[in-house]
Amino acid sequence: MDYNKLAELLFPEIDKTPEDYEALYPAREEGKVVTRLGPSPTGFIHLGNLYGAFVDERLAHQNGGTFYLRIEDTDDKRFVEGAVETIINSLKFFDISFDEGASLPESGEAYGTAETGDYGPYFQSKRGPVYQAFVKDLVSRGEAYPCFLTEEELAEIRAEQETAKETTGIYGKYAEKSRNLTYEEIEANISAGKSYVVRMKSAAKEEYIKVMDGIRGEVSMPANNQDVIILKTNGIPTYHFAHVIDDHLMRTTHVVRGEEWLMSLPIHVELFEKFGFPMPVYCHTAVLLKVDEETGNKRKLSKRKDPELSLDYYRNEGYHPQAVKEYLLTILNSNFEEWRMANPDASIDEFEFTTEKMSSAGALFDLNKLNDISKDVLLKIPADELAEFMIDWAREFKPNVLPLLEDREYLTKILDLGRNEAKPRKDLIYAKQIFDFISYFYDDYFVIEERIPEQVSDEDAKEILKRYLETYDHSDDQSQWFEKIRTITADMGYAVKPKDYKKHPEEYKGSVAHVSTVIRIAVMGRSQSPDVWAIQQILGEDRVRARISELIG
Ligand code: GLU
Repeated sequence: MDYNKLAELLFPEIDKTPEDYEALYPAREEGKVVTRLGPSPTGFIHLGNLYGAFVDERLAHQNGGTFYLRIEDTDDKRFVEGAVETIINSLKFFDISFDEGASLPESGEAYGTAETGDYGPYFQSKRGPVYQAFVKDLVSRGEAYPCFLTEEELAEIRAEQETAKETTGIYGKYAEKSRNLTYEEIEANISAGKSYVVRMKSAAKEEYIKVMDGIRGEVSMPANNQDVIILKTNGIPTYHFAHVIDDHLMRTTHVVRGEEWLMSLPIHVELFEKFGFPMPVYCHTAVLLKVDEETGNKRKLSKRKDPELSLDYYRNEGYHPQAVKEYLLTILNSNFEEWRMANPDASIDEFEFTTEKMSSAGALFDLNKLNDISKDVLLKIPADELAEFMIDWAREFKPNVLPLLEDREYLTKILDLGRNEAKPRKDLIYAKQIFDFISYFYDDYFVIEERIPEQVSDEDAKEILKRYLETYDHSDDQSQWFEKIRTITADMGYAVKPKDYKKHPEEYKGSVAHVSTVIRIAVMGRSQSPDVWAIQQILGEDRVRARISELIG
């Protein structure tokens, strides 16, 4: 068979050759790491994407290399309007930005045209002619062929294989019929309008391939023997083919992708070999697991069951991007926590991230751990920055409280409360939780949430508050203020030392703790809170007096 003639028959319009493309996309700077994120524009961007993007970003930027965004949009059924913007903006929130590739379109700009960089197009849907030129090349070398098997024929083959308990697919004797079609037969099929796919002619080597995975070390698998589809009936490439061509032409050095692709690695190895392209370093990341609340077993995070899989979740709840990044690093690199302990104040970017320290066995995601980390991370962010973060969050996700939070000075004082002590308080986790936590500072949200302690009668409570208000002097320092509480406590028959009340409950109505709780509930609506004196200083005299007066009636 004259394969050149066959290639012309299949791709009469393709006049560029692989060499032309090689020349169009010159080698990048020697020694620089080039990584890419290749999401499909489905509109759903999840923790797995962030996890992978984070690895890509670190590998490239740690080395002064390039990280680019390629949109894998060959499956238009899954396409969602605005998805590219979502990807870019969601990652930007986590400080992950691309050096080249698909970019934010200007308003009115057609889909698939907004991009920067010299290795485009970066939208696979715009790369049809590129793929076809490489398929044409394989056909002309007798390494790929058109296959006209119909759905019915494929189903029959499959059934036969299943009955015989053989591997399914088109390989070996099952590939013979299509492989051996003559030029004339192919030409007749095409004239008759029969549709076809193009399959790679597998060398079906009886051997194991060995690949050094950046995360897993040496991976050994049986070589591919399947004549996999490289071009579908509509002329669109399969993932396998697009991956090999794009990552080669875009000069990707490290392919970071999910473990689900590991199985197809032998196909990719064979394609790289057929073209004589150098192989990138593959880094197959572990799947993200969580402990199922009901069963206690580890399982994959699910889109349906686990809202925390979506990146939107973290933005909605108002997690600080630094907290999420810090947490991701703890699950990404086994030596990160140790490094963090030794370098508590260093920027995350100083940590040297390595793929070798990544787990290949499944990364366990745990929201409680994220929350713990978040407490520490927020403590290191200056209160005025945190205030700004809260305001930005409210603007987007809780606009009704924005006018309140916009009193930035007040908010800053609130957030700074109790943070500068030897044992700083660690109760701020994420914006939504923080707002609930500090809501009592805002009159619109102030509610009495708790009951007074049972040791204090309603009458006594009123009396305590009355005396408190009478003696209240906003300029008292903390010890003067507390001295007054002690006086009220003693005068009203409560123990000034809680342990006295414990020892002789018959002698006292209660203790200073119960008296203070009454005041706490009156001023804050709750019995647990940071230091009351400090809170009152922030609330201001008028608010304190108003809240207490309200209860005295
Ligand atoms: N489009 C593929 C995905 O979303 C990309 C896989 C890869 O990074 O190679 O899973």
